[in-house]
Amino acid sequence: MHSISEKLFARAQQSIPGGVNSPVRAFKSVGGTPRFMKKAKGAYLYDVDGNQYIDFIASWGPMILGHAYEPVINAIKEYAEYSTSFGTPTELEIEMAELIVSMAPNVDLIRMVSSGTEACMSALRLARGYTGRNKFIKFEGNYHGHADAFLVKAGSGVATFNIQTVPGVTAGVSNDTLTAPYNDLDAVKKLVAENKNAIAAIIIEPVAGNMGCILPAPGFLEGLRLLCDEENIVLIFDEVMTGFRLGAGGAQERLNVNADLVTYGKVIGAGMPVGAFGGKRAIMEHISPLGNVYQAGTLSGNPIAMIAGFTLLKELKANPSIYSELEAKTIYLRDGMNAVLQEWGGAYVINQLGSMISLHFSAAPVTDFATAAAADIPLFNKLFHYMLDNGVYLPPSAYESWFLNNALSYADLDKTILVLKNFLSQQ
Ligand SMILES: *Cc1c(COP(=O)(O)O)cnc(C)c1O
Repeated sequence: MHSISEKLFARAQQSIPGGVNSPVRAFKSVGGTPRFMKKAKGAYLYDVDGNQYIDFIASWGPMILGHAYEPVINAIKEYAEYSTSFGTPTELEIEMAELIVSMAPNVDLIRMVSSGTEACMSALRLARGYTGRNKFIKFEGNYHGHADAFLVKAGSGVATFNIQTVPGVTAGVSNDTLTAPYNDLDAVKKLVAENKNAIAAIIIEPVAGNMGCILPAPGFLEGLRLLCDEENIVLIFDEVMTGFRLGAGGAQERLNVNADLVTYGKVIGAGMPVGAFGGKRAIMEHISPLGNVYQAGTLSGNPIAMIAGFTLLKELKANPSIYSELEAKTIYLRDGMNAVLQEWGGAYVINQLGSMISLHFSAAPVTDFATAAAADIPLFNKLFHYMLDNGVYLPPSAYESWFLNNALSYADLDKTILVLKNFLSQQ
């Protein structure tokens, strides 16, 4: 039953474009009616019609310890009494910065913003200001938020809706955006050779999560690191998804590759609108008011957002076993899915690292956007609806990673595997 969601969706479309404030929520690619949520607790979402779902989105990552996590909720309540914003510096911002610097490798200075989009946009501006170069390289199917420069061969919603060129992004802007296939170091080397001394930055999702979950091939990130060192290019890791998720030190720590600049979002705000970009002091010193690369935000470092993120990150730092628990759960899910998928006998690929996982109905390995796009998307869409109807909430697109949260129980994972098995038995 989802008649109340249906009514709300019809009403939403009267006053909100497409009825949603972010495109993938609209279910356009999978079809059907998006479910309007009322509340969430731990691993479960509850919609307005009273349905309960095991959640594999975790609000696209932030709810890594589950929804309505009590220490975070209590901290928000406490700090809300002091006012929701001051427009002045606060001690809490220092504590947040010090905590991030203590957790994240290669972050000497960190600037808070209000979204992952802002973080990536600002990091790119900084790399350009620092190097005095205009062009940059991104990877097909990687998503770095919706700033103009990144909306070229982007992942996530742009891929979901199969948008080739985004109206409103001028050729002047996109001409400076060079793209290469993910995991193709030779293609990157070729672009760098063709644009000698013109490339400011290479930006990458060190583990891609916006075309399903795709792992970097052995040596790929290391190769980018070497190339950037040789050519004085700023290497930006977009850790909006992977930061504080693949480990307290994110993908840099997990994969042992150093970035020059790093962007954060999602987990860093515990569900509040927060992003951040940081990195080596020599580069970060070019940001205003220290340097001339201008960057600002009326609500940047907002106290409610800060206390939420700070409370969550402190917990993640204090309890590193959270990451091994999460990974053990994800591997359990992967192995259970493998068992029922093998029994079924059709073509599939599961990609997984840490608490990120995705299932592609593909005979070939899924290593880049082209191989992700070649998978059986209609079958994924069918799976999505079957799971949804049976109380399991997957991302509503084959081009999104699933995110596990540590409130998930093994019984939840068993149920998820069983629902998958039942679905496959009908295919
Ligand atoms: C979600 C995401 C962004 C954009 O963050 P928003 O907070 O949605 O603006 C950027 N990069 C990556 C890798 C993301 O997953």
